[in-house]
Amino acid sequence: MIAEQLQAVQEEIRRACIRSGRNPEEVTLIAVSKTKPVSMIQEAIQEGQLAFGENKVQELCSKYEELPKNLQWHMIGHLQRNKVKYIADKVSLIHSVDSLRLAKTIHQEGEKIGRVIPLLIEVNVAQEETKFGVSVEDALPLIRAISAFPYVEIRGLMTIAPYVENPEENRPVFRKLKQLSVDIKNKNMNNVYMDILSMGMTNDYQVAVEEGATLVRVGTGIFGERDYAQTI
Ligand SMILES: *Cc1c(COP(=O)(O)O)cnc(C)c1O
Repeated sequence: MIAEQLQAVQEEIRRACIRSGRNPEEVTLIAVSKTKPVSMIQEAIQEGQLAFGENKVQELCSKYEELPKNLQWHMIGHLQRNKVKYIADKVSLIHSVDSLRLAKTIHQEGEKIGRVIPLLIEVNVAQEETKFGVSVEDALPLIRAISAFPYVEIRGLMTIAPYVENPEENRPVFRKLKQLSVDIKNKNMNNVYMDILSMGMTNDYQVAVEEGATLVRVGTGIFGERDYAQTI
């Protein structure tokens, strides 16, 4: 089942790219495996899927230990500063940086292990009160401040769009994040690359791809509904 779902999502991504005149190779699918067992991740690996997203440090670390070391782990959830040290050597990308304090801690942990840690700034484009992330207005000043830390590199932006019935409703959200990334890229800041745009989930990833996503984070569409009572 996971094989079919993965292929279907990949095919939808390809179609969305064609529709919007993009090269499908610009878009990477992150399989969001949070709450799902290692056996399901192994099924996905068999299909060639190597990038996985987790939102809890402990779960990411235990799956990291159990699975092959050629995978890419993406930290997509809210990150507490005191837990950065556990993932500093394991993550390919931290998607959820929304404060200078957190970025500074990531920089300090990177310095300890001699690794420049790639990160994204999480932007709460839709201004939902329940969500983490900086406002669109605060993104540039935050990025300016973080760019002074040599053991992190700012690779781009991430957003979690609202849950909506019709994914078209999120198009303006994705468009706004893309525009913000272009504006920031044009500032040509040291240490700021803006080559990654992480947006789109099961419900709306096709629209996100049409609007310029380079990473889409799909969980339910690959692994099925999550049962939070069953978390490992
Ligand atoms: C859980 C999660 C996803 C995946 O959500 P689905 O709707 O299951 O695809 C994507 N991004 C973040 C940040 C998440 O926490």
